[in-house]
Amino acid sequence: MSFFRPEIEAIGGYTPGEQPQDGSFIKLNTNENPYLPSPAVAEAIQWTIVRLPKYPHTFGDPFRQMAAEHWGVEPEWILCGNGSDDILTIVTRTLVGAGELLRLPYPSYILYRTLAQLQGANFEEVHFNADWTLPEAFFSPLPLGEGPGVRASRLKLVFLANPNSPSGTVVPPEKILEIAKRLPCPLLVDEAYADFAETNCMSLVKQCEKIMVSRSFSKSYALAGLRFGYLVAQPQLIEQFTKMKDSYNCDALSVAAATAALGDREWLAANRAKILATRGRLVAEMRKLGFVTVDSQANFVWNVRTDRPIRPFYEELKRRRILVRYMDYPGWGDGLRISVGTDEEIDHCLEELRKIV
Ligand SMILES: *Cc1c(COP(=O)(O)O)cnc(C)c1O
Repeated sequence: MSFFRPEIEAIGGYTPGEQPQDGSFIKLNTNENPYLPSPAVAEAIQWTIVRLPKYPHTFGDPFRQMAAEHWGVEPEWILCGNGSDDILTIVTRTLVGAGELLRLPYPSYILYRTLAQLQGANFEEVHFNADWTLPEAFFSPLPLGEGPGVRASRLKLVFLANPNSPSGTVVPPEKILEIAKRLPCPLLVDEAYADFAETNCMSLVKQCEKIMVSRSFSKSYALAGLRFGYLVAQPQLIEQFTKMKDSYNCDALSVAAATAALGDREWLAANRAKILATRGRLVAEMRKLGFVTVDSQANFVWNVRTDRPIRPFYEELKRRRILVRYMDYPGWGDGLRISVGTDEEIDHCLEELRKIV
């Protein structure tokens, strides 16, 4: 006899990237920002201490106000979350019931699959093409494998990480609008890495009710430890999502810190410029070392080898106290995802790779 819902027992459980706490590793495995956040963050947190005895805003109002101005929408278009993972959870739980269907790209962010499983929902994974473009099947209004005449209503939500992880590639906004128009359900564009990209889908939210965009403060704002993310969607959707969230899903410190971080545009621009410069060097050097490295619009790069196994590179680097992410996607292949660290960290990593090659 088991105490548990069968769909929970069936889940393997999320395995996050290794987080050694002893500080002796160079960490290039979980796409964190290698720099400290904006000084405005510390100041905002300091100012918020006096508010801690009271409950925070239920909707993170100061942040909503700031983000609404930033994106040229009303605050009712913004939903705050305890990290963007919280946003993905709220959206899935609101839109997808047991036995219904989610569509996910593959390989992509593993959490999407787990969210489907937690709901007792079905999911269909559409494989990227070899060049990381999306096949026609991703656009289909019908569940895969079902011909015309079958009701499409089972398909309730489509996820798309853009830029994608682990590839760092981007599906152009025009293409995303085209996908959304054909779908019978909302499309969540997960823009956790969009601050490092050349394009984003924010302006599409106004054009198409089905397009929702999530953002994270964990990567481009160097606030992974804070836990803050948000969703931009039309108000009639946000209204329903607010029923699903915890009453106080964002604490006063994270709301104040994220508001301050969003307000410091100079910090973001300077940080982005540094990361992109280092990324360019990393890509060029990896190719010189014989890796097949995908052009990235995120703060990490995806590398494969065609001449020999790649896993030993991960192991050798780890032995030398450099952590990168080894990913093996059944039915797709394996590779190394390397986060863009500081110039010193990347130089050190490249130096060790040169020895290993
Ligand atoms: C890191 C990441 C997130 C999660 O961000 P948090 O705000 O830290 O929860 C969401 N989506 C993708 C694709 C990510 O890589």
